[in-house]
Amino acid sequence: MSADRPSNMSKEVKPESVLLHPLGTAAAPEQELLCIFGTGDLGRSLGQRLLQSGYRVVYGSRRPHSCGPLPQGAQATSHEAAAQSAGRVFICIHREHYDFLETLAPQLKGKVLVDVSNNLKKNLYPEANAEYLQRLIPGAHVVKAFNTLSAWSLQNGPSDANRQVYLCGNSAEGKLTVAEVATKLGFTALDKGSLSAARELEDFPLQLFPEWRLPLRVAFGLTALFFFYVLIRDVIYAYVVQGNDISFRIMVSLANKVFPIVSLIMLSLCYLPGVIAAFLQLYRGTKYRRFPDWLDRWMLCRKQLGLVALGFAFLHVIYTLVIPIRYYVRFRIAANTISQIRENKTSVFDTTTAWRGDSYYSMGILGFGLYLLLGITSLPSVSNALSWREFSFIQLGYLTVFFCTFHTYLYGWNRFLKPSSYKWYTPPAYLLCLVVPSLLIVLKLLLLLPCVDRSLIRIRQGWERNDPEDGSAKALLT
Ligand code: NAP
Repeated sequence: MSADRPSNMSKEVKPESVLLHPLGTAAAPEQELLCIFGTGDLGRSLGQRLLQSGYRVVYGSRRPHSCGPLPQGAQATSHEAAAQSAGRVFICIHREHYDFLETLAPQLKGKVLVDVSNNLKKNLYPEANAEYLQRLIPGAHVVKAFNTLSAWSLQNGPSDANRQVYLCGNSAEGKLTVAEVATKLGFTALDKGSLSAARELEDFPLQLFPEWRLPLRVAFGLTALFFFYVLIRDVIYAYVVQGNDISFRIMVSLANKVFPIVSLIMLSLCYLPGVIAAFLQLYRGTKYRRFPDWLDRWMLCRKQLGLVALGFAFLHVIYTLVIPIRYYVRFRIAANTISQIRENKTSVFDTTTAWRGDSYYSMGILGFGLYLLLGITSLPSVSNALSWREFSFIQLGYLTVFFCTFHTYLYGWNRFLKPSSYKWYTPPAYLLCLVVPSLLIVLKLLLLLPCVDRSLIRIRQGWERNDPEDGSAKALLT
């Protein structure tokens, strides 16, 4: 067919598909040249990544001819020459060695300097490294960026967990060009504002689970407190008063008493600040006044409180599952059976005990099921995929507290009525742990009363009891 075609085919080509350059001879877009000061770990990883992403790279080094293996395609030269050749310079040097950059101020004037540095400790210097760099070279546009990524993650490319590049700087144009590079490398650039945010970014890699600190401290404190409490009441009491050495129970029985207690209290502590905040808003008649700092901090770590609580609940489940295979339990069952045979007695089936036991397990299983649902929906990848309505529908936190609390009440049953439960005049541990969740449930039920709920909704929609204009108070309960 093509043989029949006239040779002047180009005449048939429609205007919108006209090729500006014949294929294969198109002028390739000029690759941009970026400069990196420092041929260390980060400098090399960054250089490699930039080369892979289509940039050209020139290194500024103290020893351009003996600086070790560089990524293929990169050149090394003196700092002066490198600085003059590119518009953007990545300073991959430790802050301690920044002084020499002052002598390069004329070459770096008007250029975008990317400060990637971190420090070994917080507040090591009076000013942030990036601010110091800006002071050394006032004519440059300093942008803090890439410092929260490691050389390793730069080399391997962005992964889901490490996709963000935080940046800050006083020059909007400078930030834009750095964000452009970050995007081309496959990262998501997040602008944190002016250069005064640099210290926050520099402190970022030094953080040690800041939002987990309070929940972990609470968990540790509660575990220690309740462990010693049940140790004294169970093991030491048995030894001192009855002369029984039951210290072997520490490993499973005591652990399995402490874990659910800590779990239930922490789960309640996860929801209690929300209820306290609601009562505070009702009391104040406005939502526009700040919560006290302690409540703010408490609210901010609710997710972590819940996840630690879930961890303890998980331990409780595993410890409970091993109960039937314990030597002590098997021995007791066998001894009981043998004693019944010897005495020719059969214990009578007690329907109430059966009901109680089954309800107790059922509440525990349901509670744990909801617990897991709460944990799963708190994962960012899951919660981000849900609408607000879907999220609040699935987040059945109060129902979880209710099931777990009921599970504990069924565990105690009528034991709290027996004087023998109050060893050394102390209440059983399960009774103590019911205080916080029971209080939470009562407070939540009060908030659900229609008149209270209506007032709270009005406040949360912006209604204020005291008119800010005239200061007169309005009735709250309608
Ligand atoms: P590095 O391996 O020690 O490299 C630093 C480079 O700085 C050296 O290779 C050297 O390059 C240059 N240098 C050393 N002393 C100098 C001096 N007196 N004057 C001028 N230049 C000097 O350090 P790095 O791990 O690459 O870290 C570089 C910067 O990136 C640091 O500020 C660090 O906080 C930051 N950072 C590193 C990582 C990481 O994972 N490594 C992550 C985030 C941020 P030449 O010999 O070529 O001159």
